[in-house]
Amino acid sequence: MKIAAIQKLSLIDYPGMISSVIFTQGCNFRCGYCHNPSLVLPQSFGDFVLEAKVFDFLQTRIGKIEGVVITGGEPTIQFDLVRLIKKIKALGLSVKLDTNGSNPGMLKKIIDNKLIDFIAMDLKAPLNKYSAICNVNVDIEKIKKSIFYIKNSGIVKQFRITAIKGIHTIEDLDSIKGIIGDNITLQNFKFSGKHIGNSFSKENEFSSKEMDEFRTA
Ligand code: SF4
Repeated sequence: MKIAAIQKLSLIDYPGMISSVIFTQGCNFRCGYCHNPSLVLPQSFGDFVLEAKVFDFLQTRIGKIEGVVITGGEPTIQFDLVRLIKKIKALGLSVKLDTNGSNPGMLKKIIDNKLIDFIAMDLKAPLNKYSAICNVNVDIEKIKKSIFYIKNSGIVKQFRITAIKGIHTIEDLDSIKGIIGDNITLQNFKFSGKHIGNSFSKENEFSSKEMDEFRTA
């Protein structure tokens, strides 16, 4: 398991739970707005964190945290993700998985075996704009399958989209709502100056008024 980092304490990444966050290394997408190049671009990778160290730490947190978030990068490209999840669950902790939805086979296995307690999928765009926004050739059928599995999983779920001015339009959001329904968590793009693509700026942030228009569209 390629673990890039562990955040020891988070009050926001796992809704309703005090958690630790495991960041896996590597991603199969190259979204220009991504602000985690060190988790995505091999030339920016740092050293791994040994899995044994992660579990030594988690052992000390039992009774203090309630869950673990596995995020990335993209966790489902790690061949031994199921093993990692089972190991965390064996500690009596809840698991939330964040995914870009590119690996429905892995998601189905995890969902069918009831291995996780919460799943969050990031939607990048309406289906016809996916490859352009993710800067790779995205297999849209896989994205659709992941959405289907998650929607019908029976576990707590969240679909999220980061709205980017100049890239997403209200029509785009309508198109995504057509697939997901209204239950989408919408977050505004935040310029950090550390994005994978170099064409982003504060101009890509929507105003509060514009975000309200998005939300009520
Ligand atoms: S935003 Fe997510 S899916 Fe896109 S490149 Fe970054 S980690 Fe990968």
